[in-house]
Amino acid sequence: MKTADVQNKKNDNGQDTLETDTLIIGGGLAGLAAGYALEGKIPYIIAEKECFPGGLSATLKRNGYSFDFSGHLLHLRWPQTKALILKLLAGNFNTLARDARVYMLGRQLPFPFQANLKKLPEKVRSECIREFLKAADAAEGKTRGKKDSCSVPDTDFYSGWAERTFGKGICRHFMLPYNFKLLQYPLNLVTTEWCAPFIPVPDRNEVLQGAYGTGGRKFGYNTSFIDPLRGGIGALAEKFAENLKGLHTGMEVVSVNTKTHTALLKDSRRIKFRHLINTSPLNFFISIQENTPENIKKAASLLKSNTVYVLNLGVKKPVPKVHWGYFPEKKFPFYRAGIASNFSKYTAPRGRASFYLEFATAGDPIDFESAEQASFKALKECGFIKNIKQIETKMWLRLSPAYVIYDKDRAKALPQISAWLAEKGIQSIGRYGAWKYSFMEEAVKEGLEAAENILKQAV
Ligand SMILES: Cc1cc2nc3c(=O)[nH]c(=O)nc-3n(C[C@H](O)[C@H](O)[C@H](O)COP(=O)(O)OP(=O)(O)OC[C@H]3O[C@@H](n4cnc5c(N)ncnc54)[C@H](O)[C@@H]3O)c2cc1C
Repeated sequence: MKTADVQNKKNDNGQDTLETDTLIIGGGLAGLAAGYALEGKIPYIIAEKECFPGGLSATLKRNGYSFDFSGHLLHLRWPQTKALILKLLAGNFNTLARDARVYMLGRQLPFPFQANLKKLPEKVRSECIREFLKAADAAEGKTRGKKDSCSVPDTDFYSGWAERTFGKGICRHFMLPYNFKLLQYPLNLVTTEWCAPFIPVPDRNEVLQGAYGTGGRKFGYNTSFIDPLRGGIGALAEKFAENLKGLHTGMEVVSVNTKTHTALLKDSRRIKFRHLINTSPLNFFISIQENTPENIKKAASLLKSNTVYVLNLGVKKPVPKVHWGYFPEKKFPFYRAGIASNFSKYTAPRGRASFYLEFATAGDPIDFESAEQASFKALKECGFIKNIKQIETKMWLRLSPAYVIYDKDRAKALPQISAWLAEKGIQSIGRYGAWKYSFMEEAVKEGLEAAENILKQAV
């Protein structure tokens, strides 16, 4: 263990007590970025329970393949974090133009579905357009007062919002089946705060152009993306971790006492801290607090998420050139599948390709063997492979929590929990610490900001 940033003392029971200024729970990108900003300025400990840093943005190696925890692509939007991430990657990256498709009805459409209806069978396309125009008219007030207008749905919830925005046809064929397959939660209970950055909303002309024209501009936050050339996305976490003297892997926090400012570790040692940054899942973090008020425990118990299983495959070539695909139909067991070696050839040995298939559940386990059999058949059907014998390596990974569920319970619980954390001076950040639908750059940004807040107090 590295000791440069901690003082090691024995308590009355002869157990080790480490002392530091700032304890950071979790060594994913949020925790690593916080440590990066504190390094050399004040003592800190990053306690990471796994034996490697990076959290969901780590990369695991097997038989010459580099497997991520599903596709992890960088979409950089803020100057400060962009400059830092690119500096750390030091040229070890590719910038790619997205080639993503929707696989359905035996066809492939460019993504996003709603802006690319042209390749659908005529009957489905005209249903989508008819319903879309009805919804667009209703939104513009042209059908106000008419009985069949689409202004009825309750737009507080995803299914109503989607119906009002895209019409019943686009919803029936893609928006509802795909998002239910992903979230595994009733879409008439899912709220819509998360939609804006992630779901492109083309206007009337753009939808018509995508249905009948020659195809238009690309839509969405991920039209182009950055991916490390060598080492998978884990290359970024490794660069953050490289010079962090306070990073401790294999160190699991099992309880926290905000009155005594101590954390208990799984190996029975304690850490005494002044400041605390949490990046572990918020509901878990509340559950390990000593002396938590009942209303906060209850609020945390209302937070929900899905679980994603990722099946990484090492495959002999040939494979198609697509980056990834969306699969709304039930006959495909996965909701999304990608070919990581099409982002960077270095994720697979020569002559090989690497795939990731994503399966979502509401938390239940999945039967790996039957999921594999169904997936291999589906991969043949969508043209990712020609023959099952091409598959030579596999690795299952479990991500839980994976996608936070936005519902009324979350909207009620989060402000209560946040107020309690603020009272205790705890910063709970990152995708799961803040319990939100966010991305790697945001985790880095929040880590830097949390460290900044602590440094300001130290002045
Ligand atoms: C399926 C999927 C695909 C995604 N794709 C993308 C993408 O393409 N692009 C993108 O930008 N983002 C993507 N994301 C989001 C991205 O993974 C996260 O935003 C980012 O990794 C969050 O980093 P974090 O540090 O907040 O959390 P985490 O990576 O979850 O890190 C938290 C760390 O805390 C540790 N920990 C937990 N409990 C304890 C404990 N008790 N003691 C010590 N340590 C503990 C964990 O082991 C973990 O390492 C995706 C997410 C998912 C689920």
